[in-house]
Amino acid sequence: MPFLRTPDKTGRCVWLLPAVVLAVVVAASCAAVWAPALAAAPSVTDARLGTSGETTRFVLELSDKVEANAFTLTDPYRLVIDLPAVDWQLGSDFVPTGRGLVSRFRYGLFRPSNARVVIDLNGPVAVSRSFVLPPDPSNGRDWRIVYDLTATSDALFRQKAGWPPSARAPKVAALPVARVPMPTPKPDAGKVIVIDAGHGGVDPGAIGRGGTREKHVTLAFANTLAEALRATGRYEVHLTRETDIFIKLRERVATARRHNADLFISLHSDANKHHHVRGTSVYTLSETASDAEAAQLARKENEADIIAGVDLSSEGDEVRDILIDLAQRETKNLSVRFAQTVIPEIADVAPVLRNTHRFAGFRVLKAPDVPSVLIELGFLTNRQDEKNITSAPWRKQMAAAIVRGIDAYFAQRTAEATP
Ligand code: ZN
Repeated sequence: MPFLRTPDKTGRCVWLLPAVVLAVVVAASCAAVWAPALAAAPSVTDARLGTSGETTRFVLELSDKVEANAFTLTDPYRLVIDLPAVDWQLGSDFVPTGRGLVSRFRYGLFRPSNARVVIDLNGPVAVSRSFVLPPDPSNGRDWRIVYDLTATSDALFRQKAGWPPSARAPKVAALPVARVPMPTPKPDAGKVIVIDAGHGGVDPGAIGRGGTREKHVTLAFANTLAEALRATGRYEVHLTRETDIFIKLRERVATARRHNADLFISLHSDANKHHHVRGTSVYTLSETASDAEAAQLARKENEADIIAGVDLSSEGDEVRDILIDLAQRETKNLSVRFAQTVIPEIADVAPVLRNTHRFAGFRVLKAPDVPSVLIELGFLTNRQDEKNITSAPWRKQMAAAIVRGIDAYFAQRTAEATP
């Protein structure tokens, strides 16, 4: 996907008026508002960056006029552009890379009615201009939304940064955690399993060498695993998401608790700068990570909310909320037992990392009363792993192995409960 320095003739006119550009430093509200589209969901056909002198330009090209709303966030420095629900037609091999003042960006659904672009900035930046260009049939250009970015000071950036009221998600009610009964065996009903497809929507997760997005392979695997579990007739299965949409970490935990799940499995696939690194691994929760690598992985996975531009100030302190209950000790033991039961089954069908079962502070594993594990299916940065994870037959094989592990775990528990 080419990054064009100047989108078209009209763009260039504006582009070459730096005096005007600098005069209109309107970082206060970088809102650009247009009439909403009348037709079906507009599609985004291109997203590109260009640089000219001190300015970095971000252009979104769309089939229709849409209303866009931009704001900046601190820690780390980000520019967020909120859009109505749009159809992303950038192609599966489109990998957004950084340029100029932008280190990288990502895009996707944030809520059912709201798409979002999150732009990671290399430093404090002001939106010096934002405007819309109408279609230009002479060079095949659609509607374009343009943001011009210039460097600013940290103090000025912080002054202007923050969530506009429209971007604040409705607050999620605090989880009732004071006294949580232990999950009791349900002898007559099937065991309830909640499967969590990691990432989604505006948060793509890891990106593979061939452009594979973690959010897509986790959803594909979640569906395969759900199907395999349902086919046994022994399990009631729920997914935390069934489409390519962003879900906050605490909402994933809340889904497991709402269904009174007996087991929560969060699915991911990793990336590593060393492309030879491959293998599956299983993680359980601990405040103390078993090694630096596990700690770093947890940090990376926990960034999902930051990556999507979530208002964390309304999230509350779930660690404080959750650690108060004794239930968690038993839950942790069960999580560890499940991990130890499923790993040999996984090892039958795929290479596993050394010391495969590891501990770290994954936020998505923090339900106090639901045994929870996180499975990293493999590394999207390794050719063979990426090939496996994107292959339907491999997913079936791996799902069957996990089902065997789940069967064995519940069989053990039933045996213990029977004197
Ligand atoms: Zn992940």
